[in-house]
Amino acid sequence: MKLNAKQLEQVDAQIKRLIQSDSYFGKMYKEAGITGVSSQEEFEKLPFADKAELRNAYPLGIQAVPDEEVVRIHSSSGTTGKPVIIPYTKKDVEDWAIMFARCYETAGITPKDRIQITPGYGLWTAGIGFQAGAEKLGAMAIPMGPGNTDKQLQMMQDLDATVICATSSYALLLAEEINKRGLKDKIHLKKGVIGSERWSEKKREYISRELGIELYDIYGLTEIYGPGIGINCIGETGMHYWDDYLYIEIIDPKTGIPVEDGEEGEIVITTLVKEGAPLIRFRTHDISRIIPGQCKCGRCYPRLDIIQGRSDDMFKVHGVNMFPSQIEELLGQVDGVSSEYKIDIAHDDEKNRDIIMLTVEAEGRVNFDETAASLKNLVKSRMMVTPKVVVVPVGTLPRSEKKTQRVFDHRAQ
Ligand code: ZN
Repeated sequence: MKLNAKQLEQVDAQIKRLIQSDSYFGKMYKEAGITGVSSQEEFEKLPFADKAELRNAYPLGIQAVPDEEVVRIHSSSGTTGKPVIIPYTKKDVEDWAIMFARCYETAGITPKDRIQITPGYGLWTAGIGFQAGAEKLGAMAIPMGPGNTDKQLQMMQDLDATVICATSSYALLLAEEINKRGLKDKIHLKKGVIGSERWSEKKREYISRELGIELYDIYGLTEIYGPGIGINCIGETGMHYWDDYLYIEIIDPKTGIPVEDGEEGEIVITTLVKEGAPLIRFRTHDISRIIPGQCKCGRCYPRLDIIQGRSDDMFKVHGVNMFPSQIEELLGQVDGVSSEYKIDIAHDDEKNRDIIMLTVEAEGRVNFDETAASLKNLVKSRMMVTPKVVVVPVGTLPRSEKKTQRVFDHRAQ
């Protein structure tokens, strides 16, 4: 999707403002001799912004307005090293609330709804984003924050909450508790707004069925306002995003070159009107695609498909992009198989084809040969590749407290 004339003007203005502010990115553009953009070609030559740079600019190096205009900061928790701090102006806070309210509206939520908010409040953008959006919409916000399941369920009943906002894991926990305590008849939830981490279809069906609710995936990241920059509509054909605030391109994560609409790649976001910390071509490392054409719901906002995974985890077999999360999902469908696995990819030079080998663990009570065969068929039918499957006893594969390496690519680079 190309920038329209207005978006191009907005990006040009953002760049000029950044340079004038002498902020981290302003200096970067100045040193690179960039003064603005007047065409799609020029835009696509602009350098990407990455999380590592935001860390370099810690704490407030990316701030592009005078101190007196900053009304709030948020921070994304860094799993490694320094966190990232994002300053917001009054307008940024307002714009975020407008976008979030639009998300609620897209999910069919109205001022009559009562929205129970379980994501955390504080430095991160979660709870407060859900809250501001609810208030902007005119709905009743119930600002619970995370944890304390007893109290959550009590308030949910006493206040007749109609919408639950949660991570998929917490929504699952609540669904299980409601089921266990036999509270189903006392709960009046109609919709769930769930942070758009990748989650399995199995989990989604369970939550939807147990709570009797429609589920909506909300997208966002702290660097770009927070959650609320996109959500799926009732059509369930991808997430609409707000192109009056953001320009989204999909790039090949290896080459950095934008791909055609409909093709999968990494989401790169440019903020069009952000003041406190504008970001131009920010690499999210989330993998998705732009869904071409107009949605059957009639909204004109463009659509992103559901997030497939992180570009850091992606691997390619026979030219097809794959993610460990896809394998993970299939493991959940085979009886007796643990969640641990290892993927080895090699190249058979003689036959000139890629070979994918999947090592999984199974409990002693199941037949390993049958397990291997059913997993092989499952992968073949869902992912269009035929793996070799090796089944080993539970506890054989290495466990790690840190992120476990799942994919081992033995092909010559
Ligand atoms: Zn739609």
